[in-house]
Amino acid sequence: MLCPKCNSSTKVIDSRDIEDGKETRRRRECEQCEYRFTTYERLSITRFMVIKSNNEKVPYDRNKLEKSIIKAINKTNIDIWQIEKMLSDLEFEWMKNKQWITTKRIWKDVIDRLKQISIVASIRYASVYYWFQTKEDFQKFLDEL
Ligand SMILES: [Zn+2]
Repeated sequence: MLCPKCNSSTKVIDSRDIEDGKETRRRRECEQCEYRFTTYERLSITRFMVIKSNNEKVPYDRNKLEKSIIKAINKTNIDIWQIEKMLSDLEFEWMKNKQWITTKRIWKDVIDRLKQISIVASIRYASVYYWFQTKEDFQKFLDEL
């Protein structure tokens, strides 16, 4: 990895696993200007499928899920990094035993985890989920996920 300041090569001066080895934190130093910075390395999660209620299978898309959560928790005082961390933890569980997961399970887990961060946020997310008047509304939301 190149130095963000001067674009020279860098060396790793410290490396440690955090969160039970789910993530590796590396302290790096530029060999030229001696600037120090930290990088985080984690498993890239694209290897499981999501099964929608209409039985359609789509690849898991973290960005879409993250956007839907951020939209629901808008105007609560939750930091994005809390959502990032929550999703990293959940993804680790989701891909532990299975190669697929249902959208229902994803929502249930997200709501459960949000409760631990903020009750308000969990209610908002759940209300987005349960608010739908018709089956079509609900399907539309499923398709957007
Ligand atoms: Zn440098």
